[in-house]
Amino acid sequence: MGITDRLKYQVASITTMMLSEGVKGSLMNLCREKQSLRLEKSKLRRLFTSMRPAYTEAEEFFVQKYLMCDDLVAKGMYLDGYGNALIKVNNPDGTESKTLWSCHTDTVHRKAGIQTVHFNPIDDKFSTTDGSCLGGDDNSGTYLMLEMMRADVPGLYIFHRAEEVGGCGSSWIANNCADMLENYDRAIAFDRKDVNSIITHQGSKRCCSEAFAKDLGKKLGMNHRSDSTGSFTDTANYDHIIPECTNLSVGYFGAHSARETQLLDYIVRLKDAFIRIDCEGLVTERNPKAPVEYNMGGYYGYGGLVKPSKEARTAMGWSKQDDIKWKQDKKKSKKGDEDKEQKSLTDFENNKEITKEDLYAILDGADDDDLGPKSKKSGKEEKIETIDDFEEPDYDEFFIGLAD
Ligand SMILES: [Zn+2]
Repeated sequence: MGITDRLKYQVASITTMMLSEGVKGSLMNLCREKQSLRLEKSKLRRLFTSMRPAYTEAEEFFVQKYLMCDDLVAKGMYLDGYGNALIKVNNPDGTESKTLWSCHTDTVHRKAGIQTVHFNPIDDKFSTTDGSCLGGDDNSGTYLMLEMMRADVPGLYIFHRAEEVGGCGSSWIANNCADMLENYDRAIAFDRKDVNSIITHQGSKRCCSEAFAKDLGKKLGMNHRSDSTGSFTDTANYDHIIPECTNLSVGYFGAHSARETQLLDYIVRLKDAFIRIDCEGLVTERNPKAPVEYNMGGYYGYGGLVKPSKEARTAMGWSKQDDIKWKQDKKKSKKGDEDKEQKSLTDFENNKEITKEDLYAILDGADDDDLGPKSKKSGKEEKIETIDDFEEPDYDEFFIGLAD
């Protein structure tokens, strides 16, 4: 009996005995939720398994097999002159969307290939144990965009190449396709650590208005707030053309390090929120042609400690003294960052409906369920599971190819 079947069986047994209709309903909802989380977990795990430094064969292979698969090409996916993969999803009435979605296909890994990924149901996190990055940056953004695309969320989806080595793919687009970018009111990237941030500044330069951030946060309904401490992602290369450019927390921590983790529940809820809300009507206020607005909050404010861009430092009269203070503060911030990660998680947990734990308690024996495939009895390295209960474009082909 599968895990979900076992749960259903337990619920059925319990509910026939003694529970009120309300509790029965809650338990059945929990079962459904667990089933769907299991599916999302499998998809994310597959993505995290692949290590793809920029310009490697693995990145190219990923783009060709995963994004340029027959299904997506039939829907309009194409590669531009740099190798960025783009696809447009129109509004339901056939008009063109004013939203640009952004993620990147490269990851920060020393070598290309496949790796073993673990999921810990206790803290709801993916991680690796072999000293390499998880690659939530930016497989998590890639996952969100693939899922939103599949749900026909309108927008131009750009899977950028080589973000980690200087935003090369987006820089190429900004230099060669400005006409195309002018059609968009907002560019939303999924490439930010932590939970609940809507980035308003990248490298101390304003990239979206407070009104936009507030409107998006309210629509998402997940307690997102504006955050001026962004460093850089691809949408920064569009901020002189597109009015509202941002980057959103996708729930990874410790990116570019062996400690990198990714929350499951948060990213699935974020995906569901973007599928549910309408982004076409978001407030558009910032004028991309207006003089650049600098904000050193990313440096002087709490916890950010992102060194302002050279442009911002020049504009704000950054002194030698500032530089020394920045280096001292950065040292001190390491501990602070760890505390903040814990705090963010607590905040996030507090937003959840608290009934879940009670329900687990009722479902005696269900708390050992990790929502997914159990580790192998043999103790050998985990293999990628074959998922045959949902349709995906060429996933298996991709991984088989990558393993060769
Ligand atoms: Zn990234």
